[in-house]
Amino acid sequence: MRVLITGGAGFLGSHLCDYLVGQGHQIVCMDNFVTGRPENIAHLMGHERFSFVKYNVCDYLHVDGRLDAVMHFASPASPRDYLELPIATLKVGALGTHKALGLAKAKDARFLLASTSEVYGDPLVNPQPESYWGNVNPISPRGVYDEAKRFAEAMTMAYHRYHGLDTRIVRIFNTFGPRMRINDGRVVSNFIVQALQGKPLTVYGDGSQTRSFCYVDDLVQGIVALLMADSGTSVAERTERSGFHQEPTGRKLGSMHDPVNIGNPRELTVMDIARLVLKLTGSSSPIQHEPLPVDDPRVRRPEITHAKALLNWEPKVELEDGLRKTIEYFRNALQQSQ
Ligand code: UDP
Repeated sequence: MRVLITGGAGFLGSHLCDYLVGQGHQIVCMDNFVTGRPENIAHLMGHERFSFVKYNVCDYLHVDGRLDAVMHFASPASPRDYLELPIATLKVGALGTHKALGLAKAKDARFLLASTSEVYGDPLVNPQPESYWGNVNPISPRGVYDEAKRFAEAMTMAYHRYHGLDTRIVRIFNTFGPRMRINDGRVVSNFIVQALQGKPLTVYGDGSQTRSFCYVDDLVQGIVALLMADSGTSVAERTERSGFHQEPTGRKLGSMHDPVNIGNPRELTVMDIARLVLKLTGSSSPIQHEPLPVDDPRVRRPEITHAKALLNWEPKVELEDGLRKTIEYFRNALQQSQ
């Protein structure tokens, strides 16, 4: 397949580039380096099946040649980033998604949207199934990311229903691994960097809020399984079957065109993560409590029944093993940054 990956130089995008190039696919990687980094794709430059375009996906989008799939991964994804870049975050989720969908339609390419567990907001049910509509405050500082991604999902489903585009939506839960930035701001990278530097681990609030962490290799497997899952129908059939006006109401979620949660259901409190990072790094850093960010979700855990049934996927990497690899990565990254 010839695949365009927007945000291809980011944390997740670059791992996807690696995996798909390794599987024999041809990758066009697009990034404007707002939160992506040249280092993440440096080793792919010059590879015969890899090309790079520095571009903002919100601008008019043109890619030469055929495309079999468009994977839209461009967006700031760390709360620190999207709080600093609220308008860019809204634009890439809204305008960028529209442009990427338009390109997929023009090329009759399959489209995969990187959505997020943030569409569930501060959830009132735990774990979160895909059928849960969420509890999002649209005007909170976090709302810029949550609402952009909710709009992106709505736009993607509209292209599927109205234009018959073959679309997929993955709701990505907390993910960690090599290539997160030292100053990324998310909890796993913060705690590891702080522990390795002997600085206090900054626990926001009392640390009783929960998250569920997936190692990046597992996540990539799940996303690629969703991309490759065969819809088994032509564009004409899809248009007819899922036509905007004919769709029955009350239809159940569960097809590959509906959102699919990909994440690791092992749920920990933030204090648990802090203790685990201290243990695995052997650090004696103290814990320092800082104010809880506004509307920080109290709980988060994916319900992954659909991913298991539809994709035969479930995470395999133990949290501790993933953390050891990530600690090793940050040890090197910190040495090189000195
Ligand atoms: N968090 C923390 N200390 C940090 C960074 C984050 O206690 O240095 C908390 C944050 O308040 C949230 C959880 O860890 O409850 C996960 O935050 P992250 O920014 O990684 O992602 P989120 O799941 O909130 O999008």
